[in-house]
Amino acid sequence: MSNDWQDRTRAVHAGTRRSQYGEVSEAIHLTQGFVYDSAEHAEARFIESGPDEFIYARYGNPTVAMFEDRIASLEGAEAAFATASGMAAVSGALTSMLKAGDHVVSARALFGSCLYVLEDILTRFGVEVTFVDGTDLAAWKAAIRDDTTAVFFESVANPTLEVIDIKAVCDLAHAKGATVIIDNVFATPVFSRAFEQGADVVVYSATKHIDGQGRALGGVILGSEDFIRKTVEPYMKHTGGSMSPFTAWVMLKGLETMSLRVNAQAASALALAQAVEGHESLARTIYPGLTSHPQHALTERQMGQGGTVLSLDLAGGKPAAFAFLNAIQVGLISNNLGDAKTILTHPATTTHQRLSAQQRVDLGITDGLVRISVGLEDISDLKADILQALGG
Ligand SMILES: *Cc1c(COP(=O)(O)O)cnc(C)c1O
Repeated sequence: MSNDWQDRTRAVHAGTRRSQYGEVSEAIHLTQGFVYDSAEHAEARFIESGPDEFIYARYGNPTVAMFEDRIASLEGAEAAFATASGMAAVSGALTSMLKAGDHVVSARALFGSCLYVLEDILTRFGVEVTFVDGTDLAAWKAAIRDDTTAVFFESVANPTLEVIDIKAVCDLAHAKGATVIIDNVFATPVFSRAFEQGADVVVYSATKHIDGQGRALGGVILGSEDFIRKTVEPYMKHTGGSMSPFTAWVMLKGLETMSLRVNAQAASALALAQAVEGHESLARTIYPGLTSHPQHALTERQMGQGGTVLSLDLAGGKPAAFAFLNAIQVGLISNNLGDAKTILTHPATTTHQRLSAQQRVDLGITDGLVRISVGLEDISDLKADILQALGG
């Protein structure tokens, strides 16, 4: 593969390992184990295995390796480890590098399960976690200490779509020697330049835009060769969170079309946000690509585009949000995102139900908030559907 290839070429070809049959579509090596020529060969493989010498699928598999190499190439990372889900990636990235007594600073606006890992699990093992308002650089500066080991945030927070300044937070963290781990789901690998902007480790739920068609759970941890091989891989291969070969194949096929899908979905998300902004039923239209978004300039600089998700805050609270959801005909009421199908979610009663009322207030998750993950349907149908559900 040429180092000069553009992203769309990498998304189709990078990392391909062709078998002796010369297949065009990537082979699914649905095997847990690998055969050795001799006892000596097995012994040597267990002492040190080379890049294409596999031992056991929990440690690595040719189809999974294709996916890891392809996404690493796209993201501009030295290495990747594919995981069974996005949460296996988030928890694996954090737990593989942390120990009792370490200090972590995290943005407080997080996907519910990420919050659980930081707030309930890490603290149970003696890791101290400080939460900050991720959009407030002074708060990051005050919270990151000389002994801070890691800094964690979602570059675009779910579901309130606050955008966090990757470069500025990385500069603050690196000044204290802390490792920055970014959950970059909402930026998508298409709009991400997180490594260029200073990230040490980037994590994706592949369940979202990488599959993009709602079929399989998956995730990936990207970072330096050293971090992936020496910290992440030993932890993941012994704790069991590896991706299955079948899932890796689904994700490889997803990567081939990801750029086309995500660009089309982001264009529709912007068109929808512009069509509904200022509607009398709405207290707020939240979309990072709108000039009214508080971090619009940062969004342009950091991602170039606003992404595939917008959130609407209905002025009439929960009854209005439920009436809106129940009136939708094209979109689906569900909770995935990045899917080809438009999906609407009421975070306060579903994904963020576990939070206390006060936490929801602090995070801006109002009872009227509806998150819309924009799919690949025709924009005129989506626009008509959302406008009729808002009541004209
Ligand atoms: C969905 C999501 C996850 C978890 O991914 P799964 O694949 O569902 O485990 C983590 N972080 C963010 C921001 C997400 O949107």
